[in-house]
Amino acid sequence: QTAAPGGDTIFGKILRKEIPANFIYEDEQCVAFNDVNPQAPTHVLVIPRKPIPQLSLADDTDEQLLGHLLIVARKLAAQLGLDKTGFRLVVNDGKNGAQSVYHLHIHILGGRQMQWPPG
Ligand code: 5GP
Repeated sequence: QTAAPGGDTIFGKILRKEIPANFIYEDEQCVAFNDVNPQAPTHVLVIPRKPIPQLSLADDTDEQLLGHLLIVARKLAAQLGLDKTGFRLVVNDGKNGAQSVYHLHIHILGGRQMQWPPG
């Protein structure tokens, strides 16, 4: 038996269109959609179609894919007008990183002033 394409997380279900999401971008390697519980006026998630559970489990052979996710995040930030004011990209990893969905994703957050350090 083979695993479901996209993996068996809520993001796998979103990738397979089994549950709806507000998609803003799709290509052969990744998709982007609005976060259901936005932490900023703009809160978008960029996820690979490949079900890498978390960044710490990515492989050296994922180098091109990981670069692609950042380039897509950069283009979407510009498309959303965030490049004018600045924005934040976040990758939560594991328990201490407060990761809740174990399918790699980049958060794009913008539209308000961020603070540093984060909580
Ligand atoms: P993490 O804490 O794993 O870095 O972030 C997971 C994110 O996924 C959270 O910001 C959460 O609001 C979002 N999320 C969880 N379930 C869903 C869902 O079913 N749909 C969408 N669009 N976002 C979700």
